[in-house]
Amino acid sequence: MGEGGTEGKYNDGMRTVHNHIAGRTQPPASGTYLDRVNPATGQPLVKVADSDERDVSAAVEAARAAFPAWAAMPAEERGRRMNQLADRVADELEPLALLECEDSGKPLKRAREAEIPRAVSNLRFFATAILHTQTEAYRTDGVAFNYVLRSPRGVAGLISPWNLPLYLFTWKIAPALATGNTVVAKPSELTPSTAARLAELSADILPPGVFNVVHGLGAKAGLPIVTHPRVPTLSFTGGTSTGAAIASAAAPMFKRLALELGGKNPTVVCADAELDGAVAGAVRAGFDNQGEICLCGSRIFVEAAIYESFVERFIAAAGKLKVGDPLEANTDQGALISAAHRDKVAAAVEAAKAEGATVRLGGTVPADLPDRCRGGFFYQPTVLTGAGPQCRIMQEEVFGPVVTITPFRDEEELLALANGVQYGLAASVWTRDVTRAHRIADRLEAGTVWINCWLLRDLRVPFGGVKQSGVGREGGSEALRFFTEPKTVCVKY
Ligand code: NDP
Repeated sequence: MGEGGTEGKYNDGMRTVHNHIAGRTQPPASGTYLDRVNPATGQPLVKVADSDERDVSAAVEAARAAFPAWAAMPAEERGRRMNQLADRVADELEPLALLECEDSGKPLKRAREAEIPRAVSNLRFFATAILHTQTEAYRTDGVAFNYVLRSPRGVAGLISPWNLPLYLFTWKIAPALATGNTVVAKPSELTPSTAARLAELSADILPPGVFNVVHGLGAKAGLPIVTHPRVPTLSFTGGTSTGAAIASAAAPMFKRLALELGGKNPTVVCADAELDGAVAGAVRAGFDNQGEICLCGSRIFVEAAIYESFVERFIAAAGKLKVGDPLEANTDQGALISAAHRDKVAAAVEAAKAEGATVRLGGTVPADLPDRCRGGFFYQPTVLTGAGPQCRIMQEEVFGPVVTITPFRDEEELLALANGVQYGLAASVWTRDVTRAHRIADRLEAGTVWINCWLLRDLRVPFGGVKQSGVGREGGSEALRFFTEPKTVCVKY
């Protein structure tokens, strides 16, 4: 075994991912490892620690022991260490991007240009955000003076998914650590490598036990974090059904819980939209990261007057997306995360056809893959029309490269369609009419509405979903509040 959490040269055969507990690389108590393949090739790639409640208990104990000193450390010093960790991630941009690409099947250029840089930004943002907080104070006229102390809550349990691995992992870890909590984190077992490398990079920066990573399956390694009595704070990003299971396990224990869940997001294109920009934006929203982003716009609604021309232009643009080897610089869309997920996406398209939808583009596995990728889990960008609002393809999250395009007559019909799902994560609206943009944004049921853009993120703004897309908000001061406990002190005059 290597010294750190990952072993072996990148891109050079199997590597093994171990836990990181109390500042040290540790094998799982079970002694067993799960086998993962490279989704782009189907070839063995990673052996990942198959952890269970014994590893979680050890990690929680380490985090509890580390908590008093970390919480008492001046914010400036915590921030300095987190910035140092960010520097190391930035220095390792290329190898980390490659790990992310190999684990997930996503294009290397996406990991390199968007995701690893965002992980650096997450760490830096919260490392400095804690230096700019304010203490609330309230004067009860002539009677008393109140102020609010905010303290870290203890051990934070952080569980993240496979689609944007290090990006979402650091989005939780950074605010938790910056505010003085210690962490027990579980990345998805499907994409463990960058989290393991982050832990390794942190080993001589963060005191032992401040940042613990336990790898393994959701039910075996994730659930024990959720139910551990010494973990009062939980932040989870993943599917809605998993979120429901976590909420019901955590509720009787009165834990503080943030859930960032699934989406079935509308992209709205009005007749007055600047059409080239709207087509490019809708294609990106539909297929970025193989459609495996919770914010992807999988339901496109187009005003009837431009419907036919939009569909034609959209299909032409989506048809140019290059599906192929994630290592190639000109690849737009890589592999889906697993064979099972690829089959789920394909089944959703078949079900849509059975419910009356027409496949206008894609709907199959690509035929012209390079030899290296013949065993990989690819699926073509797929465009469906003619799906009714109650079809499963219009109601259920597919989390793959599949969009529907549907015409709307007026704003009332649009809002009924767009809001007529259980989800409410995000939406984008394409129009040159500023009044209409604000009016529609106001009435869309979503945590974020983008006007003439998509996935433009400012780390200070609240981020999260309504309805079954989640509970709570991440980002900026929302995250700082989530990870701290307010205490009001009232001083009588
Ligand atoms: P899952 O819900 O399957 O898993 C998310 C994480 O939870 C993984 O680490 C998983 O481990 C773990 N987990 C699974 N079951 C349990 C359990 N019972 N207790 C504790 N932890 C558990 O989601 P996916 O990884 O498949 O990610 C895709 C989903 O994530 C999509 O629905 C997507 O919309 C959503 N998502 C939401 C975002 C948002 O911000 N709203 C952002 C990104 C994705 P393991 O992998 O080992 O099963």
